[in-house]
Amino acid sequence: MLAHRLIEKKRDGGRLDPGEWRALVMAYAAGHVPDYQMSAFLMACFLKGLDHGETAALTEAMLNSGEKFDLESIGKPRLDKHSIGGVGDKVSLILAPLVSLFDVAIPMVSGRGLGHTGGTLDKLESIPGFRTDLSMSQARSQIEELGCALLGQTSEIAPADRKMYALRDATATVASIPLIASSIMSKKLAEDLTGLVIDIKRGSGAFLTELDEVMALAHEMISIGDSHGCPVVALFTAMDRPLGRACGNALEVEEAIATLKGEGPPDLVEVTIALSAEMLLLAGVASDAASARADLHEALVSGRAAEQFRRIVERQHGDPAVLDDPALLPQAAECELYTAPRSGFVQRVEPRAIGKGVTALGGGRTTMADVIDPAVGFVITAKPGDWAQANEPLASIYARDRAGIERGRATLRSAIVIGDEAEPPLPLISHRVTSAGVEVLA
Ligand code: URA
Repeated sequence: MLAHRLIEKKRDGGRLDPGEWRALVMAYAAGHVPDYQMSAFLMACFLKGLDHGETAALTEAMLNSGEKFDLESIGKPRLDKHSIGGVGDKVSLILAPLVSLFDVAIPMVSGRGLGHTGGTLDKLESIPGFRTDLSMSQARSQIEELGCALLGQTSEIAPADRKMYALRDATATVASIPLIASSIMSKKLAEDLTGLVIDIKRGSGAFLTELDEVMALAHEMISIGDSHGCPVVALFTAMDRPLGRACGNALEVEEAIATLKGEGPPDLVEVTIALSAEMLLLAGVASDAASARADLHEALVSGRAAEQFRRIVERQHGDPAVLDDPALLPQAAECELYTAPRSGFVQRVEPRAIGKGVTALGGGRTTMADVIDPAVGFVITAKPGDWAQANEPLASIYARDRAGIERGRATLRSAIVIGDEAEPPLPLISHRVTSAGVEVLA
């Protein structure tokens, strides 16, 4: 009866108290509330919203449904970065090894791709042998040894969120500010962090498209972090086009490795450095943003970051030879160029269409049970604002077979829009939000 009463209360615009949130989340995690009732409840939350106190109570309840890391005795600042989800977003693969070179601990808990967005775990698992199913104690030993572990949300970490997020994905209830804020913060607070940087994606390929929505999300997460002694810094970054060039799991690993060696595409390098610099500042290991950026650049171009990634790959049972020879990553049977159908300005490269296109090639999931093909995807060299000459290559399609190439071609025809006038894209990094206020960067 508990679930029925609380569904009714939320449906009618009521407010749940912390005890009710705790009882409902615990009952659901323990299997005492069926998915159909939780789905109805989540839809009521989606439609009626949660106030700040309810969002904090839901976060707390999901956090307490599992275990928390206890990393204080490591004696280092503990930082992580979380992205709200995007297309071509391979930043975590670069940032985690890079930042862990600076005497900080990175217990990075990542997710899988679902819908049109990719997931860090799927990308890492395209490295032959790479294991992301570390237990919390295995992750802890690795963090002590290397400063960083890259793991999935095990059944130990915020298990209620794990179940509820899968349900939200299947019931069109993801794009809700309080549900996103509580979902992310419950996992991040379980990492026992001393600071968190959030990459809030904005634009047509993001969960939230409008500035006022992403601002509200940032303030919600900052406030939850503050009340747990975990300062949060949010950067708003563009997701009105894919980040970098590669979209697809193994292709993104290849681009991440190139970036770790100082050879990444400029937008990917810029976003990675900006987020990494915020982490170094939060950790107190850099005195100012300029010196943080300079040190991070040096770690990329010197090859130190790539060597750290090699150590992590080796420690997590992956084949470190992929760093020297990307051909050891899964390879698509078919690859073809896609050329500009006419001359003009590239007006749009629609990330949502590209993300769905990767899924249609077999590289993404529509349900959690789907098995993905790590080799397929796109490498898109065209960026909004570029001039394209007719028949000039704009992208490459990687597919399993000829039918896949044709599907990929149809995706690119609709996703890459060429017109007579350039349309200004969103600024790559537009805002920086902290508990002290909002800085407009562009
Ligand atoms: N990522 C999460 O972990 N949860 C959400 O709700 C959205 C993005």
